[in-house]
Amino acid sequence: MNAPPAKLLDTFGRLHDNLRVSVTDRCNIRCYYCMPEKDAQYVPHAEILRYEEIERFARIAASLGVTKIRVTGGEPLVRRDLHVLVRKLGAIEGISDIAVTTNGVLLAEQAQALYDAGLRRLNVHLDTLDRERFRLITRRDELHRVLAGIDKALELGFGPLKINAVAVKDLVEPDIVPLARFARERGVEVRYIEFMPLDAQGLWDKGKVLLAGGILEMLGEGIGPLEAVPDPDPRAPALQYRFVDGKGSIGFIASVSRPFCLNCNRIRLTSDGQLRYCLFAMEETDVKGLLRGGASDEDIRQLVRGVVERKWLGHEINTARFVAPPRPMYAIGG
Ligand code: SAM
Ligand code: SF4
Repeated sequence: MNAPPAKLLDTFGRLHDNLRVSVTDRCNIRCYYCMPEKDAQYVPHAEILRYEEIERFARIAASLGVTKIRVTGGEPLVRRDLHVLVRKLGAIEGISDIAVTTNGVLLAEQAQALYDAGLRRLNVHLDTLDRERFRLITRRDELHRVLAGIDKALELGFGPLKINAVAVKDLVEPDIVPLARFARERGVEVRYIEFMPLDAQGLWDKGKVLLAGGILEMLGEGIGPLEAVPDPDPRAPALQYRFVDGKGSIGFIASVSRPFCLNCNRIRLTSDGQLRYCLFAMEETDVKGLLRGGASDEDIRQLVRGVVERKWLGHEINTARFVAPPRPMYAIGG
């Protein structure tokens, strides 16, 4: 039997067991709070980590106590044969939880292969059920495909399936209640994510964030009373609520109004092989060079430990000192 893994503890005592892997910075839609409308800057193909490289890194991370992996992007389903990577990651000793975050456009076509590869946890990004508003937000006419993807995934038995909706003020208010109803009817959770300063065009300001408190009020008035639910995992970022009538639950990723940095358990690998200790970090550490340069697993373990040791206490979105990171959301991996 192998020795138990050395844990990844930072200088604030936070345990890191959660790895987010971006498999591409490309996307097939153009959400305005993430990507520019035109001329998105992409990493050249040769710089993108191959599946074997990601698998090796994940194996090394697992040897350091990582148990959960979320695959994201850009849009992960635009990467060819994503199911092959999912299967490889799921087979790594110590990895007990694999999830994919997708915009759902290609989900109907790929859901079966992903299910067969062992994937069950999916977050599907959907802000609105209105075709025109979907076009306005994503600059693409793909709502019907996202809805077909959700239907197909539920039909196959994926679960938990969560819907991610970005909460932008003066934009998505008309969608809050319909989206929660849609989720309730399907027995899935909707998570409202407060708009974060990670858009490619520098449009964010604090006044444009639709805060969790306001959304709770809208849901209470539009659907019915909610109550807070203590999360079984106190390190999970979402604040959980459920409708008192027992039909459905809601989550909030309230990075702006209720930052969860003190409980953060994540490290992030970008599609071009840079390791980050925070979505908002100003620094990255090159892993690709080691993976491609003949470094040993132990060299890479040292690098990961070093990144976690340098981790800061948290982002400072709510202070005048805050500076947005140089890469937008699609390039880091959300
Ligand atoms: N393309 C996939 C998707 O959209 O789900 C995966 C990558 S995307 C960057 C991951 C998540 O980031 C999405 O669910 C989206 O809701 C969220 N997101 C993107 N830009 C954001 C922003 N500026 N603020 C808050 N959340 C954002
Ligand atoms: Fe693409 Fe996801 Fe960014 Fe939207 S949020 S542009 S779907 S990567």
